[in-house]
Amino acid sequence: MPSRSSDQIRADFIEFWLEMGSHLQLSSSLIPYNDPTVLLTTAGMQQFVPYFLGKERPPHTRYVSVQKCFRTSDIDEVGDRSHLTFFEMLGNFSIGDYFKKEVIPWALEFSTKQLGLDQERLWITIHETDDEANEIWLKAGIPQERIKRFGDEHNWWGPPGTSGPCGPNSELYYEQGPGFGCGFPEDPPDCDCGRLEFWNLVFMQYNQDENGVRTLLPKKNVDTGMGLERAAVVANGLQSIYDTDLFQPIIAAAESIAGVTYGGGDSDVDYALRVLADHARGMTFLVQAAASTSCAASCAEPSTTANGSTSIGRSWASWSTRWSSGWVRPIRTWSPMPRASRVSSPAKKSSSAARSRRAQRSSSA
Ligand SMILES: [Zn+2]
Repeated sequence: MPSRSSDQIRADFIEFWLEMGSHLQLSSSLIPYNDPTVLLTTAGMQQFVPYFLGKERPPHTRYVSVQKCFRTSDIDEVGDRSHLTFFEMLGNFSIGDYFKKEVIPWALEFSTKQLGLDQERLWITIHETDDEANEIWLKAGIPQERIKRFGDEHNWWGPPGTSGPCGPNSELYYEQGPGFGCGFPEDPPDCDCGRLEFWNLVFMQYNQDENGVRTLLPKKNVDTGMGLERAAVVANGLQSIYDTDLFQPIIAAAESIAGVTYGGGDSDVDYALRVLADHARGMTFLVQAAASTSCAASCAEPSTTANGSTSIGRSWASWSTRWSSGWVRPIRTWSPMPRASRVSSPAKKSSSAARSRRAQRSSSA
């Protein structure tokens, strides 16, 4: 199996979905803008929720994104082979556009052709009621014995609140074989069949009302998520996410600072190094998100037409680029305005307001 770098997997994913007519949406900040339901961004679909709910009209109907995510809920599992606090979520999204019959064969194609996975080792889970997904997976070439049905606990998504869009999901697992930890639903805790979930396809096809009654949505949506770190594990036949090129340099640095060896036979040391690598990476991205958000609050106007968090992230990125490249100069070096406008009061007012905004920016940046 040729090794695939994480950078290559990320680029291949974007390229694949661009070819399928998707628009590339930049990652939003780890600190969500205008979303009181979560403290941190936990999934790639979050910035698309206003579109899924029909609250905003999307400029495109197909998207691809690589979203920075942070899950505090997984913190106790950090250090095992597949859980992280911070991770990158590769996702493709359909807003009233393609649905199961398109996305299932496409997901299979990406898994086998781009990730290079062996189709004979793919296992699929679907919701117990989802005969449609079952038929499409069969038609795509997955035999019935490797398509397993589970209830709401494993294969149902949403609604995000008490009501709204929801639907069945379908997960892709890769069987790495004995000796690799198991994550398959309802397998015993000590199972080592090596089935690792790497991709979740969510089919938003119902609207659930306040009484729990589900009706079919007029326009169905697709929301998928694949952790880049897990994709790198299955694509390269690795034991854990800490063996990927995303973590090896951090672990190597920690080994040299602490004078210990990873994989040297001391499982406590290995565990500590894995936790340290996750937390060091996670904290770095949290600090970066906090720094850019505190600036964004004072120096960037969120767009009212596009999704807020993305536009704030973009404003900050473009502003900081201009600052570091010298496009934005302190006000005192600007050319003086013509005398007539300098004395007119509106110009004076706005220039002093601009100066005060700039002062705020530099103190908060
Ligand atoms: Zn198992």
